[in-house]
Amino acid sequence: MVDIRSVHKSFGSLEVLRGIDLEVRSGEVAVVLGPSGSGKSTLLRAINHLEKVDSGWISVGGSLVGYRRRGDRLYELREREILKQRTRIGFVFQNFNLFPHLTVLENIVEAPVSALRRPRKQVVGTAEALLARVGLADKASAYPRQLSGGQQQRVAIARALALEPELLLFDEPTSALDPELVGEVLDVIKDLAHQGTTMIVVTHEIGFAREVADTVVFMDGGRIVERGTPAEVLDSPRHERTKAFLSKVL
Ligand code: ATP
Ligand code: MG
Repeated sequence: MVDIRSVHKSFGSLEVLRGIDLEVRSGEVAVVLGPSGSGKSTLLRAINHLEKVDSGWISVGGSLVGYRRRGDRLYELREREILKQRTRIGFVFQNFNLFPHLTVLENIVEAPVSALRRPRKQVVGTAEALLARVGLADKASAYPRQLSGGQQQRVAIARALALEPELLLFDEPTSALDPELVGEVLDVIKDLAHQGTTMIVVTHEIGFAREVADTVVFMDGGRIVERGTPAEVLDSPRHERTKAFLSKVL
């Protein structure tokens, strides 16, 4: 489903991704851990072509992200094609990024109607069902500022799901939340995992990783230092850097 090969990315003289190789199979959940600055967000953004990689390639669902292959050369897609490709990859950010001037329902309805040209009536039905699924059926006409952080993040998840993405990316979805609101958001993500949604989740929630990850990836300094099952990486890490990191977050 997701295939990342030899991906390198620098910002000026700072090499942030130093040869990333990662595969995530359909229906699997990969949890990415690592210290601040290790390149986790850059990697997620590259998967969505929000960052252009310098070398290597990424494919999602069999299509190259951001490029088309012709012969043995790669050609960058046009902006319109990139936007279309992006609708197949949902992205949930740390800070929710809801549209503040739109109601909860309109936040969810906007992209399927404007980007995918779906009939509005059908999309509203889907949005209502998604709100029920994240436990917010009664908040359709509220505005983001009237919701708690946990509720806003659940709306952001419903909004991502409305595009029926084949892959969901989460970048520290609970780290901006008060501790008592973390559980309700993780529960929604766990439900998605149990229903077979393919996901890559950057998080420091080790309990969550243990429960839902098929693969845990530990990044440091722009490289994948260690990967394996939750038991392998979290309970018997082989590398000193992984051990040192886990001793701080556990
Ligand atoms: P955190 O846990 O703090 O979110 P991270 O692992 O997500 O960290 P990244 O955000 O991927 O790390 O950043 C990796 C490095 O790249 C950092 O040193 C960061 O300052 C740098 N960086 C990220 N984006 C840019 C940019 N647009 N321009 C310049 N440097 C950048
Ligand atoms: Mg980050």
